[in-house]
Amino acid sequence: MARRRQLYEGKAKILFEGPEPGTIVQYFKDDATAGNGAKKGIITGKGVLNNRISEHLMLRLHDIGIPTHFIRRLNMREQLVREVEIIPLEVVVRNIAAGSLAKRLGIPEGTRLPRSIIEYYYKNDSLNDPMVSEEHITAFGWANVQDLDDMAALALRTNDFLMGVFIGVGIQLVDFKLEFGRQWENEDMRIVLADEISPDNCRLWDAKTSEKLDKDRFRRDLGKVEEAYQEVARRLGILPEAGNGDMKGPEVMQ
Ligand code: UDP
Repeated sequence: MARRRQLYEGKAKILFEGPEPGTIVQYFKDDATAGNGAKKGIITGKGVLNNRISEHLMLRLHDIGIPTHFIRRLNMREQLVREVEIIPLEVVVRNIAAGSLAKRLGIPEGTRLPRSIIEYYYKNDSLNDPMVSEEHITAFGWANVQDLDDMAALALRTNDFLMGVFIGVGIQLVDFKLEFGRQWENEDMRIVLADEISPDNCRLWDAKTSEKLDKDRFRRDLGKVEEAYQEVARRLGILPEAGNGDMKGPEVMQ
């Protein structure tokens, strides 16, 4: 069978043309990068776990009425999603100070924020994804005021829901990054959640010990990276039954 046409290769995923028009296959790699590609590595089994974790969270968000691009998981490393026009913004929601916020504003990591905060970053690797304001976003036409309203509302609903899901399994949702896309149906457009939701783009701390269960283990060389991703999947009740063995093997592409 012919190999599918590759549309794009990113740092953690490869996108292939889907089986029907308007669909895309997301293939989850084990590759990990940090600092905009400055640090590179492999987290064995990450692709399999992120595929499962993101499927689980996207489905649960769909259940509460949040529109997402997710259609269905195809196999261990692939999921079928709707093709959307990606809005070139990273939408970060924060509940607890960490990472760049802690560094930039001198707020000790772990400080609970007075309320959830939304930040926007312009998706552009050569510029290092700079933080931008709503003024920049509307002035340069990356999104309009209505799009921003929709994204902020969806981001906050997602935050409230995910905080509940994670605290239910003993994990604090510190912060996370979302991406949104425009889905067109004839003349109608709606904004839907796209990309993935996984320990690659969330900060997840054990609620009792504050142990990091996310990509910071890789970014900061803390060790036990694979174990952290597995622990998140295990607590969510979705650790692939095949176990570790199956996570390492190459996937046969159609
Ligand atoms: N994040 C991401 N991709 C990026 C930058 C950040 O997924 O290119 C996520 C990151 O995992 C964290 C949140 O967004 O959950 C906030 O990241 P922060 O701005 O603190 O940046 P960092 O410290 O990761 O550079």
